[in-house]
Amino acid sequence: MEGLPVNILVINCGSSSVKYALFDGHGKMVKSGKRERLGRQSEQRAQTHQQAVASIMDDIAAFSIDAVGHRVVHGGLDCQQSMLIDEAVLAAIEKHIPDAPMHNPFSLAAIHAAKNNLPDVPHVAVFDTAFHSKMPRRATQYAIDQDIATRFGIRRFGFHGISHEYAAGIAAQFLERPIDELRLITLHLGNGASACAVEFGRSSETSMGNTPLEGLVMGTRSGDVDAGVLLTLLRSGEFTVEELDELLNQQSGLAGLSGLGNDLREIELAAAEGNDRARLAINVFAHRARKYIGAYAAAMGGVDAIVFTGGIGENSASMRARILQRLEFLGAVLDDDLNRDAMVANDQDFAVITTERSRVEAIVVKTNEELMIAKETQKVVSESQAIAPKPIPIAISARHCHLTKETFATLFGEDATPTVYRELSQPGQYACEQRVNLIGPRNRIDNVRVLGPLRSVDQIEISRTDEFKLGVDAPVRDSGNIRGSAPITLEGPKGRMHLSEGLICARRHIHMHPDDAATYQVNDKDEVAIAIKGGVRDLIFGDVLIRVKDSYALEMHIDTDEANAAELSRASQGDLRVPDIDDDLNDDSCVTATDAQAVVVDVVKRLK
Ligand code: ADP
Repeated sequence: MEGLPVNILVINCGSSSVKYALFDGHGKMVKSGKRERLGRQSEQRAQTHQQAVASIMDDIAAFSIDAVGHRVVHGGLDCQQSMLIDEAVLAAIEKHIPDAPMHNPFSLAAIHAAKNNLPDVPHVAVFDTAFHSKMPRRATQYAIDQDIATRFGIRRFGFHGISHEYAAGIAAQFLERPIDELRLITLHLGNGASACAVEFGRSSETSMGNTPLEGLVMGTRSGDVDAGVLLTLLRSGEFTVEELDELLNQQSGLAGLSGLGNDLREIELAAAEGNDRARLAINVFAHRARKYIGAYAAAMGGVDAIVFTGGIGENSASMRARILQRLEFLGAVLDDDLNRDAMVANDQDFAVITTERSRVEAIVVKTNEELMIAKETQKVVSESQAIAPKPIPIAISARHCHLTKETFATLFGEDATPTVYRELSQPGQYACEQRVNLIGPRNRIDNVRVLGPLRSVDQIEISRTDEFKLGVDAPVRDSGNIRGSAPITLEGPKGRMHLSEGLICARRHIHMHPDDAATYQVNDKDEVAIAIKGGVRDLIFGDVLIRVKDSYALEMHIDTDEANAAELSRASQGDLRVPDIDDDLNDDSCVTATDAQAVVVDVVKRLK
C-alpha cells in the first residue's frame, strides 16, 4: 500500500523489560526479541531502558523501519486514543508518571531513545487506558468526596485495554457477529490481571481502577482490599507508605497467598501435593474472577461470551475450569475435554471450551498486544497522511431570473439590453442591473435580479419561503428542466409577461471543472452528500447534484433557505467566513446570486 507504513517496529516497555516486535505491511511478525532485568540497581552492569532500545536497534539494523508504535500504560484523559507522538503527547505521558510510576517513566525513556535512533519516522503512542476512556461515569467514579476526587484526579481509568480490545475483537470474529451487538466479558489473566465488560464494542466496566492495583488477584498484587485495611496498617505505625506500596504491589496476590512466588505453575504443582496455602491462592484467585464475571453479566444485563487471555488465561485449563464452575446458571457450560485440550498459538489464536448446548460461549484467545499496537500505529500514521478533502466554496443564490431575449424585451423594452451590475464567480455569468417583480396568486415579490447572459428558456429560481409568500407550488428541479414547472407572472418597467411554466426551486448542486471531479472521484450527474462543518449548525445536505463542465469553477450552489438552515450568513462566526456577500443579499427586495466565501465542506458519501 503506497504511502502507508510497511515495516512497523513495536516497542513494549515494561518496568524491567523491553520487548519488541517487527511487523511487515501484511501484519506478519518478522522479528521479535526482549531485553530483561533492566535498570535494577542491585544488578551490576544492568542496562538502562535507553541502552536496551539502542541494542534493539542493532538487532533490526538490517530492516528499514517506517513507523514505531510504543505501548504506553497511562495516558489519562489527555490521550483517549492512539496518537502520533508530539510534544503534547510527551507532556501527557510525563504528567501521568505519578499515576503509573513503574511504567510511564520507562516508556518516556524508550520513546526518547527510539526517536533518537529513528528521528525521521512517525512514532505513535498506543495507550492501555484508551479503550476504557469511554466508560460511563457510574463506572469511573469512586464514592468519595467529589471535590477531593477532582483535586487529586482520582477516578477509575482501567488498564490492559490493548489486550481486552484485541481479545474482544477475536471473540467477535469467532462468533461471526458484529462486535457492536455483543456483550463480552474478557479476562486478561497474566502477572497483572483484569476483567473487562465489553458492551457493544466498548469497555463499560473494568476491574483495574485509578491504578493497576484494583480488582482481580494478580501475581504479586492484591487486587481488591478493603481500604480500611490500609488505615489499620498505617495506624499500626509499622509501615511507611513505601512499605505499604511494596506490600500491596509486590508481596501480595498469588505470591502473598501461597508464599511460593507468583508463578501459577509452581503453585498448581504444590496444590496438587496438598499444600494448603497454594490451594487457598488458587481458590481466592478463581473466586474473585468468578465474582467479577457475575457482576459484569449483571452490569451489562447479559453476556454472550467469556474470553480468557494472558499467560494464565491461555495456559491454565484448571484455573479456567475453576473460574467457570457454577456459571451454568448464566448459560456457560464448560466442556472438560475441549478445555483440557485447548491450545492457542499465533497461528491458532482462539479455542472454544464450552459445550455445543452452552448459551454463553467461553473462548480462549492468545493475546497479541504487539499486533494490536502495530495495527493502531498503521491506522494513526495513514490517517495523519491522508489528504484532507479540498473544501468547496459555497455560493448562496438569492431568488433570480434567467430570461429569454423575447421576455427581456417585453419587460424592459425592445431596445433594452442587459447591463452588468456585477460579475459572478462562474465564468461569463453576471448579475444585471435590471430587476423584475414576481406576481403570484397570493402576493408579489419585487426587485428580483435578472442574471445574464440571456438564455433560450425563461427560468425563475426562488426558495421555498418565497413560494409560500407568492402562493405557488414550485417543484425542485435541476437547472434547465422546467417542463411542467409552476406558472408565474413577471412585471418589468415596460410590460408584463405571464409564463405558463418556468418557476422552480433549484436543486442544490455543485459546479465542477473536470479536474475537480477527478479530485473528488465523482462524475457528472452523480448525487453526493455534503457536510458543512465548523459552523454554528453543522449540517449534511443529501441529494446534491454534481455538474461537470469545462467552463465551470468549483462551487456549491444553495438557496437562501438552505444557507439559513446551515447558518451560512454574514453573522456566521468561527470557521465559517462569509465576508464578501453583496450587501443587499439579505435585503428582501434584492435578487442576485452571490459568491459566499469557501466554507469547510466535505464530500461524505457517493450515492450513485
Ligand atoms: P505478563 O502479565 O507479565 O505478561 P503473562 O501473561 O506471561 O504475564 O502471564 C504470566 C503468568 O502466566 C504466570 O503467573 C505464569 O505462571 C502463568 N502461566 C504461564 N503458563 C502457564 C501454565 N502452563 N499453567 C499455569 N500458569 C501458567
